[in-house]
Amino acid sequence: MMNLDFPNSKHDESRQGEALVLDKPVLKNNGRKLYIESYGCAMNFSDSEIVASILADQGFETTSDFKEADVIFINTCSIRENAEQRVRNRLKEFKVSKMRNPGMVVGVLGCMAERLKAKFLEEEKLVDVVVGPDAYRDLPNLIEQVDGGQKAVNVLLSREETYADISPVRLNSNGINAFVSIMRGCDNMCSFCVVPFTRGRERSRDAFSIVKECGDLFNAGYKEVTLLGQNVDSYKWTSEEGITMNFAGLLEFVALINPKLRVRFSTSHPKDITDEVLLTMKKYDNICKYIHLPIQSGNSRILELMNRTYDRAWYMNRIDAIRRILPGCAISTDVITGFCSETEEEHQETLSMMDYVQYDFAYMFMYSERPGTLAAKRYADDIPEEVKGRRLREIVDKQQAHSYKRLLEQIGQVQQVLIEKRSKKSELDYSGRSDKNATVVFPADDRFKPGDYVDVLIEKCTTATLIGKIIG
Ligand code: SF4
Repeated sequence: MMNLDFPNSKHDESRQGEALVLDKPVLKNNGRKLYIESYGCAMNFSDSEIVASILADQGFETTSDFKEADVIFINTCSIRENAEQRVRNRLKEFKVSKMRNPGMVVGVLGCMAERLKAKFLEEEKLVDVVVGPDAYRDLPNLIEQVDGGQKAVNVLLSREETYADISPVRLNSNGINAFVSIMRGCDNMCSFCVVPFTRGRERSRDAFSIVKECGDLFNAGYKEVTLLGQNVDSYKWTSEEGITMNFAGLLEFVALINPKLRVRFSTSHPKDITDEVLLTMKKYDNICKYIHLPIQSGNSRILELMNRTYDRAWYMNRIDAIRRILPGCAISTDVITGFCSETEEEHQETLSMMDYVQYDFAYMFMYSERPGTLAAKRYADDIPEEVKGRRLREIVDKQQAHSYKRLLEQIGQVQQVLIEKRSKKSELDYSGRSDKNATVVFPADDRFKPGDYVDVLIEKCTTATLIGKIIG
């Protein structure tokens, strides 16, 4: 689970059950309404936009109220047990609607569907259709099967499917930020991770289709694209003419669309992130100076058991390269504590790595064994829950101190902020994000609106937010 995360797109623990509404007119309305709820990573949310696009072409209109839906889909996450439990609880809530409207179709999409396959239909009687992440083109047929009184399953994984030709409709869009998938699947086989089993082999999408999608978004008024992949650094696409493009090349290609289009990406893999990528980031002001670089553990033995294919020294070398080429670049990470056989000294090495990097932000979890993974087959989940809990608290405490320190360092700086919306706390304030992905709140000014870039003088901060005022 490389977390494909941004503050507006947290992983399964923090982003949950968001209902999505289509902002594209449906040309040939079939009178049926679709409700999609997504869990987990940004890739899932991006996939829901592909699903909505496929069904909009079939005449489905989206709704944000599941009670009026004819088709309910939950796009699921399998990364942790509690993510799956939340989906099961949610299904119970749909039961009453289904009793009221027996013709309603309830479908489970995504990683949990892929992991459990037809077993899902036995375990959850309410569910009519189970569809894996590579089978969304088949949804119209599957819905037809259900309309005909059968249950339907398609969990075939593909080596080619990238949905490159499907122009995803934007769901619940603010018209400013959009996710763009550049690849699917993962070949890395980290021992704790279900993704290689639920999302299949790695495939890179046609670079021209990516650039076209980003260009179309910019022309439609969007100001920021986030290029998504489980491991963007292993992006590799070869054209029919034999021209090969790597991630640095793609990044440059997208950055050149327009200097006013901000470019973000996630997720990087420490074994694959190259100096070429860092130098490309340096070359273009519109590529945000923010890298999510999951460490998972600061100890080389645990990293080997996790099959991460880098060690502590390699990771530090990559951090040093980022600091050398991109001074001031924000870095975030993922940490798993209490992995199989992790000793106290090894846990201390994770803490010392955190001190070394002083991350701006981190997603931190206790190890949770997932059925079917290499770790579940090979290693005992032998760290007691209370030890995992205590180690996690130590990690979280340290990260909170580092996050706060990183924000304090920015006081007095002038930062370019993309205004995204009115602040949740006060209608009088705007909220936006800096290049380094920090949330910045400042008094609204009628001269500017969401989607505009403004220079903000950072005057103070809370533990999670920068506060300032527009200058100039
Ligand atoms: S296998 Fe590893 S690299 Fe691939 S998605 Fe899982 S954690 Fe990320």
